[in-house]
Amino acid sequence: MALDFSLTEEQIELQKLARRFAREQVAPVAREYDEKEEVPWLLVEKLYEIGLLNVSIPEENGGLGLGLVEEVIIGEELGWADMGFYTIPMASELGITPVLIAGNAEQKERFLRPLTEKPALAAFALSEPGNGSDAAALKTRAERVGDHYVLNGTKMWISNAAEAEWTVVFATFDPELRHKGVVALVVERDRDGVSFNKIHGKMGQRAAPTHEMVLEDVKVPLENRLGEEGEGFKIAMLTLDKTRIPVAAGSVGVARRALEEAAKYAKEREAFGRPIIDFQAIQFKLADMMIGLETARMYTYYAAWLADRGDPRHIYASAIAKAYASEIAFDAANEAIQIHGGYGYVSDFPVEKLLRDVKLNQIYEGTNEIQRVIVARHIKKNIP
Ligand SMILES: Cc1cc2nc3c(=O)[nH]c(=O)nc-3n(C[C@H](O)[C@H](O)[C@H](O)COP(=O)(O)OP(=O)(O)OC[C@H]3O[C@@H](n4cnc5c(N)ncnc54)[C@H](O)[C@@H]3O)c2cc1C
Repeated sequence: MALDFSLTEEQIELQKLARRFAREQVAPVAREYDEKEEVPWLLVEKLYEIGLLNVSIPEENGGLGLGLVEEVIIGEELGWADMGFYTIPMASELGITPVLIAGNAEQKERFLRPLTEKPALAAFALSEPGNGSDAAALKTRAERVGDHYVLNGTKMWISNAAEAEWTVVFATFDPELRHKGVVALVVERDRDGVSFNKIHGKMGQRAAPTHEMVLEDVKVPLENRLGEEGEGFKIAMLTLDKTRIPVAAGSVGVARRALEEAAKYAKEREAFGRPIIDFQAIQFKLADMMIGLETARMYTYYAAWLADRGDPRHIYASAIAKAYASEIAFDAANEAIQIHGGYGYVSDFPVEKLLRDVKLNQIYEGTNEIQRVIVARHIKKNIP
């Protein structure tokens, strides 16, 4: 009788809170922020006020200390309303996670507490203009000089970066060592030599800010290093093993929204004298959307549950959840457009935005090809 799919009372309350916020505050303004390509700081502030920003920060550092199951509950609701908005708190957790994994007590207090005292964000900078999937090929240099590092290089596609209080930057002290030559450094936004260029013209998720982060002779003290010199790559991978689960959760939210919008429209729209939901071709599309949604949600919870228990199976489970959920969500958004016919192709209905937004879920935090590399590595090593 140990298997139990029910949420606790606290988790149900959390879901209600996130759902109400998503419906009442986020969904009505999602398209406006997307069109204006504007960071919805007002929503970030409101999210902070209801206690749902940076929820993984431990209680001893002023936070709620919630786990990935709770992040998944919140992520589905915010993803339902606007995947672009959800990427902001999600990328902040991506920045916080390396500090949780490798920060010492003093660093946790110094970096995390300020994120609980006001609406504030963190960021994570691994990707560069010349390398994303092959993260160990990073070129940003961290030269050790006395009691500090000097950083030089460019980070690319960094969510939140210019809006964040600090960013965890991964850099190499010896490129020949590849993954063994990486350090993880917390770089505060206002350090001399740090600058940002906002990336414009994204296909979707345009409310979420994405930046190029330029580092020119940036002095970072040793006490900002997470873990030991050479442990940076491991810290980045341990982080992504966990943080791709919220990407799956946001995808589940998008898939649910696509199904809801498509079902509603199919009941209202008539063709050949009857609602189009009466056609079996439409019913099967809706049924496939629901099959994808239910299985992706269940597996995403499972991956979060494994990660919260520290079970190493979460490494491949989070890869499966991210790849699967983002793919069924993309297909669901695509079919929701098809069910809307011509109306699906224009911005009067939400479905074209779902497709534009969720495409990114197949790319960031490791492309779905890289998720398959992770799953295949597990098969090679562990399946006889
Ligand atoms: C809007 C946005 C926000 C982002 N936010 C962040 C962030 O906050 N922090 C951060 O560090 N990064 C961020 N990224 C970067 C993102 O993680 C990378 O774009 C992604 O990892 C892919 O890297 P790449 O773009 O360099 O593509 P590449 O690595 O050049 O890949 C190109 C193609 O080749 C495929 N490929 C590469 N290697 C293999 C392989 N071994 N096997 C099979 N196929 C392979 C890829 O799957 C892809 O299809 C963001 C990206 C975007 C677009």
